[in-house]
Amino acid sequence: MPKILTPEQRETSRLRRRQRETERQRCARAADPDRYRLVAKASRDRHRPELRARKKQRWAHDPEYRRKQQARRARWLQHLRQEVFLAYGGPICRCCGEEHEELLCLDHIEGGGNAHRREIGQASLPQWLKAHGFPPGFRVLCFNCNNVWAQRGYCPHEVELDDVVERMVI
Ligand SMILES: [Zn+2]
Ligand SMILES: [Zn+2]
Repeated sequence: MPKILTPEQRETSRLRRRQRETERQRCARAADPDRYRLVAKASRDRHRPELRARKKQRWAHDPEYRRKQQARRARWLQHLRQEVFLAYGGPICRCCGEEHEELLCLDHIEGGGNAHRREIGQASLPQWLKAHGFPPGFRVLCFNCNNVWAQRGYCPHEVELDDVVERMVI
C-alpha cells in the first residue's frame, strides 16, 4: 500500500531531491571541469541572441545591473592593465620612474600610436597586446613623458640623464 504523504512531507522530499541533484551536479563538475566548461560554452553559444537581447534589456531598465556591470568591467580592465604593465617591465615609467599606476600608459616606441589605436579601437590596446602575446615595440611611460616624447621626440628627463652621465664621465 503506497504511503500517503502530507503536503509538508511532499515539499520536504521535493527539496531533498533537489539538494541531492544539485550536489550530484556539483560533484560531476568538480570531477571534470573542462567538459562542463565546454558544455556551458556550447549552451551560451546556442542561446547567444536571446542572452544578448536579455542583457540589453536589463542594461536599459535596471540601474543596479548597469552599476554592477560597469564595476565589473572596470575591475577587468584594471587587472588587464596590471598584466600588460608587468609584461613590459612593471608598472613604472621607463623615463622618469613614476610609479603611480593611474598615471601610466603604454607608449609605441617607434611612434604611430594614433594610427595603430585607430586601427584596433581606442579602449582595446591592452586587449590587443595580450591577444598578440605582448609583442616588442611598446614601453610603459607616464602620461607626461608619453606626451612630450610624442610631441618633441625627446623628454627633459632623458637630457637630465645625459647630463648626469656626462658629469659622471668628467
Ligand atoms: Zn614619466
Ligand atoms: Zn620623461
